[in-house]
Amino acid sequence: MSLSSPSFVSRFAPLIAGVAYFLLATIALLISRFEGGLAYIWLANALLMAELQRSQTRQWPGIILCCGIASMISTSLFGMGPIAAAPMALINIAEALIVVLLCRRFEPDRHLTDPSKRPLLVFVLALSIPANVIAGLAAAYVASSLTPVTFGASWLQWYSGHVLGGLTFAPILMMFFQGEARRWSRETSRKSKWEALGLLIFFAAVTVHVFYLARYPMLFVLLLPMVAIAFRTGYLGAAASVVILAVIGGGATMMGHGPFHMVPGTLGERIQFLQLFLSFSFLLTIPVAAELNRRRRLFQMLQESEARYRAIAEHSGDVVLELGVDGVIQYASPSAIDQLGCEPDMLIGRDAADFVDPQDRAEVARSHRRALAHPGEVQTVEFRPGLHVADLDWCEMVTRAVVDERGMPTGVISTIRDMSRHKARQRALQRAASTDSLTGADSRSAFLEKLEGEIRRAAAGERSCLLLIDIDHFKSVNDRYGHIIGDKILSGFVSRLRPGLRGMDSIGRLGGEEFAILLVGVDVHRASMICERLRDSVSTHPMRTDTGEAISVTFSAGLVELKSAAGATELLEAADKALYRAKNGGRNCLRLAA
Ligand code: GH3
Ligand code: MG
Ligand code: MG
Repeated sequence: MSLSSPSFVSRFAPLIAGVAYFLLATIALLISRFEGGLAYIWLANALLMAELQRSQTRQWPGIILCCGIASMISTSLFGMGPIAAAPMALINIAEALIVVLLCRRFEPDRHLTDPSKRPLLVFVLALSIPANVIAGLAAAYVASSLTPVTFGASWLQWYSGHVLGGLTFAPILMMFFQGEARRWSRETSRKSKWEALGLLIFFAAVTVHVFYLARYPMLFVLLLPMVAIAFRTGYLGAAASVVILAVIGGGATMMGHGPFHMVPGTLGERIQFLQLFLSFSFLLTIPVAAELNRRRRLFQMLQESEARYRAIAEHSGDVVLELGVDGVIQYASPSAIDQLGCEPDMLIGRDAADFVDPQDRAEVARSHRRALAHPGEVQTVEFRPGLHVADLDWCEMVTRAVVDERGMPTGVISTIRDMSRHKARQRALQRAASTDSLTGADSRSAFLEKLEGEIRRAAAGERSCLLLIDIDHFKSVNDRYGHIIGDKILSGFVSRLRPGLRGMDSIGRLGGEEFAILLVGVDVHRASMICERLRDSVSTHPMRTDTGEAISVTFSAGLVELKSAAGATELLEAADKALYRAKNGGRNCLRLAA
């Protein structure tokens, strides 16, 4: 197992954290415990918070135990002594737990570097208000009981050391632990990395100058490079600049150099001043970097989505149009050439309505308005194109609004699809369902529908008649010539009837060799005359088979006027009875319904 493998690290993580905690606590106690009380600098808890934040809850007991023991040993040996060891360890752990629990409570599953600024805000508030106000009071009580330092001074020592140490170091440690450095390294170009390194080295040099060489307090000089780093290198660079400032500035102040050395008072007070400066530097640069980070990611997502959309639009078989709120075309995809026979450039700047048949313009405009009024919804409309393109007679348009950051529509995206073949197939299917395939007469259902329509018109005063006809002795035609010839006779029979009918009349095949004819706008008298003519034309013009044989058929008929009965069924029954009488009366004749 390699030392760097994750399982090795995670198994020994609590131990490693404990050792690191011990080192940070001991260094702090050795270099910043000026009055025998609490330390002025405290970075160990920043490490504990970062460690808890990145670990799962079940790993917490191990981490807390190791860091607690580390705190106790450090306090016993280098701090306020063995009596303070246990309470100080508890207070340190309590502070870190309050911060991490609040971060998890309000921003679960969120990293500090999440593009939104809230996780950072929650961390800063949790650290500076509940965690350290409470922990500071408890620590001040312990310190003021065991050492000559007063309660108030102890509280301030704790508060400044912990809040400012936490602000300075916890975010950068959390970022490292959460893989931010790896992500940055992966996503950043070599040139930007060199730039970041150069800026940080420059910043370190300026900091050294300000703290070691300048003869005047020149802290303001640091602001410019810090802001530049936040803008140019983002989150990680900003956090690194705060750490550089803390290390160089802290070292100089401790050793009696730099602007904080000019502050009158004790070394402890100077350290507090430095920490205040560090926290302002943190609050100046980190939120700016977080906001920039958020915008950079948004911009990147936008670019990706734009590229995806363009790829779809450019390669789609459908025509993709971008229209302004006013309906003017702003973009047309290349498929416009194939689909509409138009170069995209010819479409741009024109009103989309110009390309819609005038009959459908109102409907298309309505769909455009609906899309703008209901952003997020998709509007679909079928229309006939105004352009004359071969084979293009129906289109379908799907429209959706494009909105700005306030949700206000700025235009629409429409995709236009050629529906001509679909429509033609629909029409063919409809035709097939309404036509008898053998004779070309209306199918039974289509005829009955027409009959219903005519009955309604008859109720409004129109006079029309229903003629029911049945070929005489058709069975014997089949018997004699066979079914195939029989079929031809049936279809020839209908062709023979058609010339005797007007355009508005309909003929339907009700079944077998039984047909019905709807004679529109005529009374029984006229209808009888038409029927007689039909009968005459059928009986006197025999049909010829392929072999030239002449076959003559006749039919019997029953006639009823539409106004004399209520529904289609009654009418058909009445006509059928009349037809029955015609059959009984010797066939090849017409009978009127009673
Ligand atoms: P009538 O009506 O004068 O009383 O005698 P018919 O022989 O015509 O009467 P019937 O109703 O008994 O016989 C109808 C015949 O029509 C029977 C059937 O074989 C024939 N037929 C029905 N549909 C078709 C068809 O689609 N094709 C052919 N070839 N024959 C059909
Ligand atoms: Mg018959
Ligand atoms: Mg029959």
